[in-house]
Amino acid sequence: MIKIIIATSNPHKLEEINAINKNPEIVFDVVRGEFNPVEDGKDFKENAIIKAKEASGIMQTYCLADDSGLCVDILNNRPGIHSARYANTQKEKISKLLNELKDVPFEKRNAHFTCSMVLTDKDGNIIHTEEGKVFGFISQEAKGINGFGYDPVFFVPEYNKTIAQLPEDIKNTISHRANALIPMLNWIQENLSKN
Ligand code: IMP
Repeated sequence: MIKIIIATSNPHKLEEINAINKNPEIVFDVVRGEFNPVEDGKDFKENAIIKAKEASGIMQTYCLADDSGLCVDILNNRPGIHSARYANTQKEKISKLLNELKDVPFEKRNAHFTCSMVLTDKDGNIIHTEEGKVFGFISQEAKGINGFGYDPVFFVPEYNKTIAQLPEDIKNTISHRANALIPMLNWIQENLSKN
């Protein structure tokens, strides 16, 4: 069994990571104790590195950090690394985004979610990184109740639905997090199972 600590305080991320992971040999847990990393990196990867290293410092074992966010083309990739802090509540974040895009027609509302994942060892050394994306459009109104964050306004053309209207198992095959985590899990299985 390979035990990996997830460097997050967001319970939805742990749930999604557990749902995406189909390998019973790899078991995830969360950081125990005080975990308040200062996410002041200049991009998703730098923030993931900050979180993974801090978690390894606390737990002295393998730690996996996910830093993710929504990038909207016409807003020069905003909110980007500021996705979590774009407004106070999630409802306000969505209203602010829809308001910023109110005069933008659907075909120019291209957006993507990015997820950067960083794995560190017990000493905080970076041992593997992955990046995943999912592409879509920002819808004109919020729809659906599944998922979290900006899922109600992220429209996926292949399914003609927002991510929040899709069942969890579909989100977990197409999402930016799945696109980063699946190769990360393969790397972990190949490289850490012999330790
Ligand atoms: P982080 O916790 O610093 O990685 O911030 C990520 C922020 O990006 C979250 O608070 C959400 O607002 C947004 N986000 C990241 N992943 C998702 C997702 O899968 N669905 C919807 N919003 C997401």
